[in-house]
Amino acid sequence: MDWSVHFPKFIPPPSSAITTDSASATATRRVEFADIGCGFGGLLTALAPQFPDTLMLGMEIRMSVTAYVDARIKALRQIQGLLPSVDGGEMSQVVREAVKEAAGAEGEDPLPAEAGVSAEDVAEDRREEAENRRATREKVPGEFQNVSVIRANAMKHLPNFFEKGQLTKIFFLFPDPHFKRSKHKARIITTTLLAEYAYVLRPGGILYTVTDVKDLHDWMMHHLSLHPSFEYIPTETLLDAGDPVLKSAMTSTEEGMKVERNKGSKWAGCFRRKEDPPMQ
Ligand code: SAM
Repeated sequence: MDWSVHFPKFIPPPSSAITTDSASATATRRVEFADIGCGFGGLLTALAPQFPDTLMLGMEIRMSVTAYVDARIKALRQIQGLLPSVDGGEMSQVVREAVKEAAGAEGEDPLPAEAGVSAEDVAEDRREEAENRRATREKVPGEFQNVSVIRANAMKHLPNFFEKGQLTKIFFLFPDPHFKRSKHKARIITTTLLAEYAYVLRPGGILYTVTDVKDLHDWMMHHLSLHPSFEYIPTETLLDAGDPVLKSAMTSTEEGMKVERNKGSKWAGCFRRKEDPPMQ
C-alpha cells in the first residue's frame, strides 16, 4: 500500500531516499483514525483541522460517493493553499464544482450486491447527496492534508489496509441498519468482524458507534458488550472527560445532520479496546 499518494505532505513516495531524522519520522507516520462507511465525508472534514497531525482515512464501498469525498478533500486542500480565508458559501461552491468534475455525470453507481443496499436506498442517497451539497459548509480552516478516502469493502478487506494495533479510533456512524432478520448477518458489527476491528485497534483505542435506529443500537451494544476485547465506556464519561470526537461523531456526518434536521433520536455506544490477556 503506497500511502504517499493519499498523504503526500506527510509520507514520502516509497522511492525517495530517507536521509534525515525528520524524514524518517514522517515516513513512519500511519493512519490512526478510520471512518468505516464514511458516506460523504462529514466526519473526516470536521476532524481533520482538529487533529492536524493525525492521519485519518474514510472507507466507503460506493464508487461515486468515494469520488465525491475524494474531490471534496482535494478541493479543500487547494482552497486552503490558495485562499487565506474562505467563507462557507464560497468553499461549498468550489467543492461542488470539483465534485462535478471528478465524479463526472451523475450517472449510475451500481452498488455491489455484497453491500446489501437496495435501489430505493440508492435513489434516496442521491436525493440526500444533492441536499448535502447544498447544506455543506466547511467552517474550520485547516490544510486537510491529513485526511483521505479509499473505496473498499471494509467488511472484507480491513486487515489488508491496517496493521495490528495501528488505529487509535475507529468509527461506525449511522451504519446501514439491514432491518430484516435475514439480513442481520450483513450488519457491520458482528462477532466475527469485531475480532478484525479488535486486531487493527490499539489497546486503549476507542470504537465509536452512532445510529438513529434503536434496534441496531441494541444489536451493536449486545455484540460489543459480549466481546472479550472491548469494554463499554459510558457516553457521559466520554463527554465529561471532554472527548473531542464524540460530539463530532454524533453531529458532523451527513446522516447525523439529517437526523438533526428531522429532530430524530440518536444513540451512541463507545467501547475501549482492552489489553490482550497474557499468553498462557
Ligand atoms: N457514516 C456516514 C454518515 O454518518 O453520514 C454514512 C452513513 S450511510 C447510512 C452508510 C454508509 O456505509 C454508506 O455510504 C454505504 O455505502 C457504506 N457502506 C456500507 N457497507 C460498507 C462496507 N462493507 N464497506 C465500506 N462502506 C460501506
